[in-house]
Amino acid sequence: MNNLEEISLLVKGCTDCQLAKGRTNAVPGEGASQAELMFIGEGPGYHEDRLGRPFVGPAGQLLDNLLVSIGMKREHVFIANMVKCRPPKNRDPFPAEISACTKYLDRQIELINPKLIVTLGRFSLSRFFPGESITRVRGKLREKDGRHVFPIMHPAAALHRQELRSAIANDFMEIPRVLEKLDRLGAKSVEAPQLDSQRETAAPAQQLSLFPS
Ligand code: URA
Ligand code: SF4
Repeated sequence: MNNLEEISLLVKGCTDCQLAKGRTNAVPGEGASQAELMFIGEGPGYHEDRLGRPFVGPAGQLLDNLLVSIGMKREHVFIANMVKCRPPKNRDPFPAEISACTKYLDRQIELINPKLIVTLGRFSLSRFFPGESITRVRGKLREKDGRHVFPIMHPAAALHRQELRSAIANDFMEIPRVLEKLDRLGAKSVEAPQLDSQRETAAPAQQLSLFPS
């Protein structure tokens, strides 16, 4: 797998686990091939399966709003999932499905080589930190195998549970600070000059209604 397009093609034809049977469209992931920020969710839901694109339903709308709140756009980041095909009725992906699919995500991470990985929810958290609880580690920068990982909760959790909304918004607001900290530490030599333009001045949070009513 030499580039992201090749991964997409392989994913679209993949039958390496039973999720292939139920999918309308596989959802390889999308975004900037040189993104400094990469988000990893769980797996496609109804809307994603229909469109073949990650985070395009209600959770995706929230993710888009949260990105705007920190002055970023979807095109500047890369968004992927643990499993690339929708589990039936949105059930949790099984360990065998995650392990069959992980080769694609592993290679996406290698090729994109993001400065920071933001895990959304417990499934992508456990890829880096098995057994860790999301409530304990969320909003804290961690390091694993030379990669910087910032775990936050899943946007769908914040949509379903009102009391989690400020937590996800606050954790999101930390992301620019974490990126700046990594810049100072020289975490990754920024070869591509256009990376600077991936960040803009954050829009004032109070002007945005992050959560759809
Ligand atoms: N939830 C996810 O984890 N991933 C998506 O792509 C959409 C919703
Ligand atoms: Fe292949 Fe992953 Fe889809 Fe399973 S979920 S069929 S491993 S692309």
